[in-house]
Amino acid sequence: MGKIHVLSEHVANKIAAGEVVERPASVLKELLENSLDAGATRIKVQVEAGGRKLVQVTDNGCGMVRDDALLAFERYATSKIKDAEDLLNIHTLGFRGEALPSIASVARVLLETRTPDEPSGTVVEIAGGKILRVEEGGLPHGTSIAVRDLFFNTPARKKFLKAESTELSHLATLVTHYALAHPEKHFELHSATNAMLVAAPVQSHSDRIYQIFGRETLDQLVPVAAAMQLERAGIPEPPPWRRDENYESPVPGEIRLHGFVSKPEVQKLNRNSIFIFVNGRLVRDRLVQHALTEGYRNILPPTVFPVVLLFIELPNAEVDANVHPSKTEVRFRQNSLVHDFVRESVRAALMKARPVPQFTREIGAQPNAAQGLSPGAWAQGAQQTQATVEGGFSLLAPPQAPLNERLQFSGAPIAVDANAAVSGFGVVGVPAIQRNGAQIQVQMDDTCGNVIEDEPQAVADELVLASLKPLGQVRDSFILAVNADGLWIIDQHVAHERVLFEKILRERSHTGQEGQRLLMPMIVELSPAQQAVFMEISDELRRNGFEAEMFGTRTIAIKTSPAGVQPSDVEKMLLELLDQFQREDQALNLEKIRVKIAASIACHAAIKINMPLEQNKMEWLLKELAKTECPMSCPHGRPVVLRYSVKDIQRAFKRI
Ligand code: ADP
Ligand code: MG
Repeated sequence: MGKIHVLSEHVANKIAAGEVVERPASVLKELLENSLDAGATRIKVQVEAGGRKLVQVTDNGCGMVRDDALLAFERYATSKIKDAEDLLNIHTLGFRGEALPSIASVARVLLETRTPDEPSGTVVEIAGGKILRVEEGGLPHGTSIAVRDLFFNTPARKKFLKAESTELSHLATLVTHYALAHPEKHFELHSATNAMLVAAPVQSHSDRIYQIFGRETLDQLVPVAAAMQLERAGIPEPPPWRRDENYESPVPGEIRLHGFVSKPEVQKLNRNSIFIFVNGRLVRDRLVQHALTEGYRNILPPTVFPVVLLFIELPNAEVDANVHPSKTEVRFRQNSLVHDFVRESVRAALMKARPVPQFTREIGAQPNAAQGLSPGAWAQGAQQTQATVEGGFSLLAPPQAPLNERLQFSGAPIAVDANAAVSGFGVVGVPAIQRNGAQIQVQMDDTCGNVIEDEPQAVADELVLASLKPLGQVRDSFILAVNADGLWIIDQHVAHERVLFEKILRERSHTGQEGQRLLMPMIVELSPAQQAVFMEISDELRRNGFEAEMFGTRTIAIKTSPAGVQPSDVEKMLLELLDQFQREDQALNLEKIRVKIAASIACHAAIKINMPLEQNKMEWLLKELAKTECPMSCPHGRPVVLRYSVKDIQRAFKRI
């Protein structure tokens, strides 16, 4: 007798549950997606004990008739697709018909539902995959699904659940995500003790960000919007000889992207603040993540991450959502095109914004910067646990990466009370200034001397920087400079680093760099892993004036060092570089190698801090900085300049 037999539906559901239901947040994700698919405009979520005890979603969507309410718990029962063709054109978030049966096989579920045109609704109770009760009930229209005691019949899986606060933060994050994606809908999240999120419908995504996270977060973000006509449809077409007369080629359509990316000064330790929606579906997508990293290349250091909220929309035929049961991954049919489109759009948005950190905010922002994208009410408790959670989506910002400060400001941060409320002065003329699309009212006061005109920020950075006049240095490290725009502080090291970085890349592409010969070759011992990296990058090193050869099995001999890098720094620089490349998890390409080497040489050859500079040297540096393409941040992503605008000064002196 054969050994193979077909598993019962009950066992099959439990197996599917292993993929679909990982934790309370995955239950919530499925329920939320069902509500959205049902066309709901009001979605209320109630949870208890981090979702272990209860996850309930109540919506005002289309509801289900009695038969459907029962069918919904059958495996592969779905109202969303009919045949395999439909898989090429999925309009809904769900389509596999697996979620409800999977959930019902590992929890106790109560479904209450009514369609708008039926007088009464249906109540279905299921536990561990068994139907316990089906009856009619007077119910409001819409659907409520309560999932209690998750994993009550699979104790082994229950053990894997994390602390209640961790699970709760995942739940909260998830509702937040969907609330962000659908500003026009009403979302609520309640725990047993408090209302964690109540978001009434608003007009736009930025209104929703403001509603959930507040002004500060919105200020840290730059809008991105781009659209591109696709040249071809991603789905394969039959060859011409197989097409019948009525054959019509699929219309290529358009790819659109909109959302927000954070300014370079916002730096997160992990990807938890990156949210990508593809056709309304929240996904974790490596391709888009990679495109983002590329977009931020040389704007953010490779070890930190931005805050990103990105909505990508493209014809349904261009994305395959049927990659994984939890539907958190997608496959783009034209993936390199999507990748480059995202990279270029993000890059363009960042370049356009060219944000200059305000130094009052920059310095003062450190202690509470961890706030980031975290809804106020619940963020605090959940935050500590969040950064350590692997997998699952999370929106909570981890503590900010410490800036690699070489010079500590002692004591309290520079306290310039620029944000104090304006009061007591009479308002004379109130010209309105258009800045960043928002109307800003400038209040003027005639009781206290002349008023300095506030200029709209229309001038390009190069011009603004080129007009800077250096006044002197603070602790031989930071150049103080002024122009009509206000007072500026420039970090002399990173400014020079930016100048050199661009110069090295430019010259490297023309001629290559001459190195300076060391008096004696320097012998450096390398580990096998370091050797492997060294072999890969040694050509490029040589082109940058860094000549070294293998010398014995484990050692290399360095003969020349790149111009400007002190011989005493050479070994350190090489080891740092090897280390960086080793940590890189993506394959190395020439571009990446080139940029990293240039950044490293620039860093080691640049003017150091604690170095007195003559007036003409400061002037030279500012002029050179003004000529760079990206003067506001160093190749490692740190800010180069801080500005204290005339407006800030006026405010601090209570003139406005
Ligand atoms: P899928 O979403 O992949 O179709 P599910 O198991 O999640 O599979 O749901 C099965 C079916 O139950 C759905 O196709 C839908 O018709 C119905 N359904 C589930 N939740 C709701 C809801 N909140 N409102 C209306 N119908 C729902
Ligand atoms: Mg579903």
